[in-house]
Amino acid sequence: MNYPDTYYAAEIGNIPQKPKLAGDITVDVCVIGAGLAGLTTALELVRKGKSVALLESHRVGWGASGRNGGSVLIGFAESAENIARKIGVEKAAKLHDLSREGAEYVRQQIADLNIKGALEGVGRYSAVRHGDTTAAKMQVKAANTPEDTGVVFHNHAETRKVLDTGKYHHTVFIPDGFHIQPLRYVLGLAAELERLGGQIFEDTKARSLKPEGGRWQVSCAAGKIDAKDVVLCTSGYDFTLYPKLSRAMLPIATYVMATKPMGQQLDKAIKTTSAISDTRRSGDYYRRLENDRLLWGGRITTRTSRPLKLAEMLKGDVVSVYPQLENIELTHQWEGLMGYTRHKMPLIGQVEKGLWMATAFGGHGLNTTAMAGCLIAAAIADQDETYKQFEAYKPVWAGGMFGRIAVQLIYWGMRFRDRLDERRKPE
Ligand SMILES: Cc1cc2nc3c(=O)[nH]c(=O)nc-3n(C[C@H](O)[C@H](O)[C@H](O)COP(=O)(O)OP(=O)(O)OC[C@H]3O[C@@H](n4cnc5c(N)ncnc54)[C@H](O)[C@@H]3O)c2cc1C
Repeated sequence: MNYPDTYYAAEIGNIPQKPKLAGDITVDVCVIGAGLAGLTTALELVRKGKSVALLESHRVGWGASGRNGGSVLIGFAESAENIARKIGVEKAAKLHDLSREGAEYVRQQIADLNIKGALEGVGRYSAVRHGDTTAAKMQVKAANTPEDTGVVFHNHAETRKVLDTGKYHHTVFIPDGFHIQPLRYVLGLAAELERLGGQIFEDTKARSLKPEGGRWQVSCAAGKIDAKDVVLCTSGYDFTLYPKLSRAMLPIATYVMATKPMGQQLDKAIKTTSAISDTRRSGDYYRRLENDRLLWGGRITTRTSRPLKLAEMLKGDVVSVYPQLENIELTHQWEGLMGYTRHKMPLIGQVEKGLWMATAFGGHGLNTTAMAGCLIAAAIADQDETYKQFEAYKPVWAGGMFGRIAVQLIYWGMRFRDRLDERRKPE
């Protein structure tokens, strides 16, 4: 069993396989799914003295966590406005702070564990493709109140000095954003988990789970885990293990590509090592890699199989923003699945006694998986109740096949509205 053919996996090279589960074991906690949610939960539990088994049906970080765009942001997949509308401004501000702590956690682990090659760059440009500057100026003002955080507004001319495209009307530069090589980060956490005595089993799918005598039994092909607590971290890659949770999620695909080294051509077009994303509802996200390569991601769809012309599609997206890059050659292109709920917020909490969930982070998972892992570990080990701040966001039915159709229609609608926005007149 191997990793998908991504730039990240290729750049690392050989990644030794971990053992499969063979036989029956007893632990305090069984965590299912070794993406960043599962890894962080498991690591924090082990740090708190619990014995932990982490099960992964493929390889550690095989899912979204080892193949994403790498931008570590603050906030959630749902907008801050909608969260405040639903739970009130004060509670929303607390969730926002937790999401910020999640981003800090990632930065801190990379530094403390000395995870080489994981931190790729700092700073982020949020690019706007229409002429209404209101939201950007409010963002800058809010970010710099009460103290100056260095978040700045760049008009078109200023933006163009850094990003040589006519597409962006203005940008906001956020200096404390950062981006990572996600698979290196994943492997760094896994190494620390094992160093502290946590057990990781790859190629070990959890096939079923059931409660028995106040504990949980998790069955795999060649063994069973007996655990007091189980944490479900299977995201968009499992729809059978625990139906109540699967029914609450839709798998949504997004795509990424990496190019061959481009030399000066890239230097002239994108003169920054900071990450860039645009504010469209289904926007592009990209950044320079080492050796003058470009990593570019975008699009969201309910179609979970790889489109036949994925490379052409992504190249077309690049050229529509930077026509001067029309000759780019790709080395890798890949897709990944994210788990989304209807409310676009993660599912964090206890679903039955001793059965926990930390899943459905959508396209905003690098900070929120860290946050959720810390919250669930604290709940299990210390009976901490901070996770209850998420109880307004329950696993509600996502609509099954009808949900997928409805969501796809919404995405098409979003793209249409993005295009209309771009035609809006500059103020
Ligand atoms: C292409 C792409 C780009 C993205 N870009 C960004 C970005 O720039 N910034 C950001 O913040 N977020 C981004 N995201 C989102 C982010 O990557 C995810 O939200 C996050 O990684 C989810 O982590 P997870 O641990 O919940 O799930 P995953 O990483 O998907 O892990 C779930 C794991 O569970 C395993 N599993 C499933 N079922 C079982 C089972 N029965 N038994 C054992 N194991 C099982 C799977 O094999 C998988 O490895 C992106 C996502 C994608 C796909």
